[in-house]
Amino acid sequence: MSTLFDSPSFDDHEGVHAFSDPASGLRTIIAVHSTARGPAAGGCRMWPYPSAEAAQEDALKLSRAMSYKNAMADIPVGGGKAVIIGDSRTQKTKALFEAFGRAVEAVGGRYWTAEDVGVSPTDLAHARTQTRYVVGLEGHQGASGDPSPVTAEGVFRGIALCVRRALNRDLAGVTVAIQGVGQVGGYLADKLHAAGAKLVICDVHGDAVAAVAARTGARVATPDAIFDVDADVFAPCAMGGAVNALTLPRLRAKVIAGGANNQLAGPDVGRAVFERGIVYAPDYVINGGGIINAAAEILAVEAGRAYDADWVERKVEGMIRTLDEILGGSAIEGRPTNEISDEIARGRIAAAKTA
Ligand code: NAD
Repeated sequence: MSTLFDSPSFDDHEGVHAFSDPASGLRTIIAVHSTARGPAAGGCRMWPYPSAEAAQEDALKLSRAMSYKNAMADIPVGGGKAVIIGDSRTQKTKALFEAFGRAVEAVGGRYWTAEDVGVSPTDLAHARTQTRYVVGLEGHQGASGDPSPVTAEGVFRGIALCVRRALNRDLAGVTVAIQGVGQVGGYLADKLHAAGAKLVICDVHGDAVAAVAARTGARVATPDAIFDVDADVFAPCAMGGAVNALTLPRLRAKVIAGGANNQLAGPDVGRAVFERGIVYAPDYVINGGGIINAAAEILAVEAGRAYDADWVERKVEGMIRTLDEILGGSAIEGRPTNEISDEIARGRIAAAKTA
């Protein structure tokens, strides 16, 4: 049996912390990959993982991706992530998120939490009663609110850039297939619709697709058929691993760019994407808007000042410039975008470690 330390996703994590609170039913894993650039920051995901091993593996992969994301967004925080084992539709309680807040507090400020899949600002407000290391809140001077709209804005600008590079077009009339129309996918659908794109959407929850289709006129596909849609862009906005050996041959899009974390089932898939001539926006580069927004709240809280919207805008602009450089580098050097991006991210983290 492979152990935590043997997992390819372990990658010298600084800390992996498991907490359970029988009274509330909380079981959570908080993974801190790196604090070299500052305290680790990354969202909390609530998901009905089939096993503790699956939860741990997801926490490790997501946490390392946060280190890379935060380095690429050039923000003064490291990478970490929390996962809560449970169904966010049926198992959320105030007591569970208070217990989660105590778990975050126990990590002693080396990890700041925020929203991710299945976790809302209301849930985090309960956690915040037990610890100050929570961002993505509303109602105080430094508050940044829900990060999802800023994530979606960055993804929207990134898709426009990829479409310009791959198809030499603007977004009007371009067809985008969105997998998952929750927070990020829903806001993204609104922005693409306003820019004149045609949408095909799917979600495992019928209420989410119905609401987005009603306001954007999107065509609805089943979660399986989304991979076969005749679209220019495939935008994964659900869970990890959407692009894998089985789905890649089915995709007809010339661009893969979306909000989901860990879109590629593995680095080798990135090479296969490149060899098929598809322009891939590395997930942790294009989806950094939300953590930039959350970092603005950390900086504001620590300095006792207001949230700085201009700083967020400058960082989001910088993130899109970085994406442009990676896409340009890939075309010139003939290398997959994910390999170029991983190399830059690892270099920035290593430089921070030795600084
Ligand atoms: P969310 O829970 O609001 O939305 C995810 C949606 O995907 C849900 O509606 C869910 O039903 C759907 N889904 C799950 N599996 C699916 C499948 N197989 N096919 C189709 N739909 C499926 O979460 P979110 O906050 O919008 O996050 C979406 C993705 O973006 C996640 O990977 C998350 O880690 C990533 N992300 C989010 C943010 C943010 O600011 N919220 C920032 C960066 C990255």
